[in-house]
Amino acid sequence: MAGGLRRCDHRLTRERAGHAIAYWRARLGITRPVRLERVRRCQVTGADGRRGCTLVGVVLDWDGATIYHTRPLTTEDVVHELLHVAHPDWSEAQVLDETERLLVGAGAAAHRGGGDDGCCADKRGFRGLGRSGRA
Ligand SMILES: [Zn+2]
Repeated sequence: MAGGLRRCDHRLTRERAGHAIAYWRARLGITRPVRLERVRRCQVTGADGRRGCTLVGVVLDWDGATIYHTRPLTTEDVVHELLHVAHPDWSEAQVLDETERLLVGAGAAAHRGGGDDGCCADKRGFRGLGRSGRA
């Protein structure tokens, strides 16, 4: 095993997610604080207008960033959202590519399980909301 790294689709406890964020913030050179905010599914409206969607998304604040999530985060989620923080101008495709590269590089994702993260909410809309709300 490569350093005991967990599979990327392993659900992290809140404490482990905090450790993962500290590790990847340092690796990605992110200096702004990153908070975790668990939200209830009933607070999330999907692209089709239905409530109760799962969501993992990040909103950049004036002094930091907040990762909102309705389900336990995985290492892949953490790396993906932190890349959005480190590179706000990147497209979703660039972030996905770099997430894969970093996780494979870390030996954590010899093969990706499950494909997408199962998010059915409109992440772009969610993020845009945060951005426009805070200019
Ligand atoms: Zn994304």
